[in-house]
Amino acid sequence: MPKFCPTCGNSSDKITFYGNFCEDCAKKKNSENLAPSIEITRCKRCGRIKSRGVFVPPNGRNLEAAISQNMKGHDIHLIDFTENTATIDITKQSQAAAATVEHKLNIVYRKTLCEVCFKKAANYHEAVMQLRGNSTRVEKMVEKLTRYYESNNEFISKVEYVDNGIDLYLSSKALANSFVLHMRLKPQKSYTLAGVKNGKQVYKNTYSLKL
Ligand SMILES: [Zn+2]
Ligand SMILES: [Zn+2]
Repeated sequence: MPKFCPTCGNSSDKITFYGNFCEDCAKKKNSENLAPSIEITRCKRCGRIKSRGVFVPPNGRNLEAAISQNMKGHDIHLIDFTENTATIDITKQSQAAAATVEHKLNIVYRKTLCEVCFKKAANYHEAVMQLRGNSTRVEKMVEKLTRYYESNNEFISKVEYVDNGIDLYLSSKALANSFVLHMRLKPQKSYTLAGVKNGKQVYKNTYSLKL
C-alpha cells in the first residue's frame, strides 16, 4: 500500500517519504523556522573566533563547531563559507528519519578582544629581556625569542629600541626561564616587585644579555 503525503498528496510510489511526509514537504517543513543568521564571537584584533569557549582560528572546522553549538538539536555540516555567510546541511536530531536541508546563514559578528589581545593591548608583561651588543646578534635573538613565544601561544607585548640594544616585554616569565635554559644562555637576572596578587608578592624578572 503506497502512502500519500497529507500536505500535497504525493504517493510513496513516486517519491521518498520521511515519516508521513513526502521528501519535498519534509524538507519544506524542516526549512521553516530556521534562523536566518547566526552570531559568532570574534576577536577584533586577531580575527580568531570563539568556539566551545576558546578562541580559535576562523577555519571551516572551527566555524562548524561554533555553529553547531549555537543550533542545539540539529546536526550541522558546513558545506561552504565566506566571511559573512555559511552554507550548511542541517538535520533535526529529534526525528527518526529526518530530511536534511541546505540552509544559508548570515554571520553576524559580536566583536570582542580575546584574552591574548586584551593582554597585548594592556602591554601585559611578566618579564623583560634586555638584549645588548652586536646588532646582528641582537636581531637574531629577537627572531628566536619571538618564534619561541609564538609557538608556545605566548607573546611579546612590546619591543623597545634603546641605546645599544632592544628591550623585549614578555608575557610569561616561566617561558623566559625555559628559553634561557633551552638556549643555554647566561643572562644577568634581576627581580623587581611588580605588585601583590592574592596576598603574594609578584616579581617581574629582568634578564640582561650581552651578545
Ligand atoms: Zn508532500
Ligand atoms: Zn585576539
